Amino acid sequence: MPRPRKWRRLHREPQPAIFKPVGLPLETLEQVVLLHEELEALRLADLEGQHQAEAAAQMSVSRSTFQRLVTEARRKVTLALVNGAALHIEGGTFRVMVVRWHCAGCGYDWDIVHGSGQGQPQTCPQCGSPTIREK
Ligand SMILES: [Zn+2]
Repeated sequence: MPRPRKWRRLHREPQPAIFKPVGLPLETLEQVVLLHEELEALRLADLEGQHQAEAAAQMSVSRSTFQRLVTEARRKVTLALVNGAALHIEGGTFRVMVVRWHCAGCGYDWDIVHGSGQGQPQTCPQCGSPTIREK
């Protein structure tokens, strides 16, 4: 039984990035900032083709919030492509993904915060069994 998720989830640790037209100095270009959660909304909607309800649940946001993120993201990306602006991917109110692990040995479940530096567990913290997997 999945727990209710409180965090806005991202697929992976976001990296800042800038996309810009070739051959023009960054300083001369219009700057557009695409937030990480807007990029994630685009990824879920347009790359994975998820339905709004499904994608909103995955990001732990309401449908209206998800729709707003997608609309804003598409507007910004289109603006950058059409106007030849520099597109910065940065910022936002994202939080990283929590990965739940399960031990087949003793049935223990625990959470690892992705990006917390804890890395991948090798054994169950409860019984020491190596028969663990992501849930
Ligand atoms: Zn165990």
